[in-house]
Amino acid sequence: MERTMIKDSFEKSGKVLVKGWVHETRDLKKVRFLILKDISGRIQITGIDGKTNPETFELLDNLNRESVVEVIGELKECKQAPGGKEILPESITVIAEAINPLPIDTSDYSKTELPLRLDNRAVDLHSQRTQAIFKIQSTVGSSFIEYFTNKGFVYAHPPSIISSSSEGGTELFKAKYFEKDVFLAQSPQLYKQMIACSMENMVTITPVWRAEKHNTVRHLNECRQMDIEMAFADSKIVMKEMEDSVKYIVEQVIKKNKEDLEILNVNLKIPKVKYLTFAEAKSLMDKNKIKIRDDDLTGEAEKKLSELYSDTLIFVYDWPMAGKPFYIMPKDEKADAELSEGFDAIYKGMEISSGGQRIHIPELLEKRLKANKLNLKDFKSYINSFRFGAPPHAGWSIGIERFTQVLLDISNIREACMFPRDRDRIIP
Ligand code: ATP
Ligand code: MG
Repeated sequence: MERTMIKDSFEKSGKVLVKGWVHETRDLKKVRFLILKDISGRIQITGIDGKTNPETFELLDNLNRESVVEVIGELKECKQAPGGKEILPESITVIAEAINPLPIDTSDYSKTELPLRLDNRAVDLHSQRTQAIFKIQSTVGSSFIEYFTNKGFVYAHPPSIISSSSEGGTELFKAKYFEKDVFLAQSPQLYKQMIACSMENMVTITPVWRAEKHNTVRHLNECRQMDIEMAFADSKIVMKEMEDSVKYIVEQVIKKNKEDLEILNVNLKIPKVKYLTFAEAKSLMDKNKIKIRDDDLTGEAEKKLSELYSDTLIFVYDWPMAGKPFYIMPKDEKADAELSEGFDAIYKGMEISSGGQRIHIPELLEKRLKANKLNLKDFKSYINSFRFGAPPHAGWSIGIERFTQVLLDISNIREACMFPRDRDRIIP
């Protein structure tokens, strides 16, 4: 007999075979219940003393939570059962027993603290709440790729091992590579530009590593970024692409993850959109007595902006040059411009993305590298890549864990990463 997923069994009647994990059991003496779960849902298995064969009835009282079992039985209507159906079992076979007790509580009422859950992530991934987060993250990533590949973007894969810093700065992990020292990529920046300058529009989801020592609820040392880069584009064009793709992603989550959103108690709305210049954002902060620097927003400012514009994807553009990396185009392509073609996007109280138009003119790039006190030698092949027919281009990057965090109002980003890497955690 072929396995039926629990969700699909609700469409059927008659005999079924289901496989899954023991969620819980209840013994009411004459009647014993097993709630069985698989990735699609849950179903009640009901054993009745005197009716169910004695061996199976006995086993119903001896199942450990999360053990893997196979059930063959009669699928019947049952108004009181969750989902309106139950299975009267003919046989129950234990395929893989789980130890009892488990290291953490996987029930719906679990109050286990996050660090202990992460220490036991293999067990934690059995819990419905955890699964809901990653089912939604799966929709986020796949609809992101779907949105852009449907528009003809090339799904490309930049390298993770790099020979020198891609952004400047020092927050890089060093590694041994045969006789050489190499670094783990802190961003796919330079590679996606090379791809855009030849294959026009590219999209990727790729891991990046940041050796930042700080320990915050919004940073990981390894995260994955959803990136695009577009040829013949400026910052306005790519902000509009973010607007449309984020709306699409949220729409898909609302459509495909209804139950998961209910489990997490999240009421999602398709975001509105607001465009502000950095100067406008700064004067809003001044009005609200929130101090920010002249070239960057603070976490507090990001939060305030989302209070002022709730359920809104907020773009802050015309960002001062001083607050953006060397490869961001100065306004009007003027090397000494105060403002840049760079922007940040803020959603539900936090930065979810940075982006902008890039410098595609080698001489201008050299000037900007020098102004940032970076060594031209380290960037030779990067600068040269713009000598072979490089059109103006622009792009952005959204962290998928950060996006999941804000979308689902999760307080700590670690909960939105399946196997987080932070200063202290590399296992599991
Ligand atoms: P932040 O200001 O929040 O530290 P950033 O400006 O350093 O982020 P970018 O280099 O602009 O980050 O990276 C683009 C996006 O990648 C960010 O907007 C965020 O969504 C995500 N991201 C960046 N760094 C991290 C990190 N350490 N952990 C998780 N996500 C990150
Ligand atoms: Mg940024």
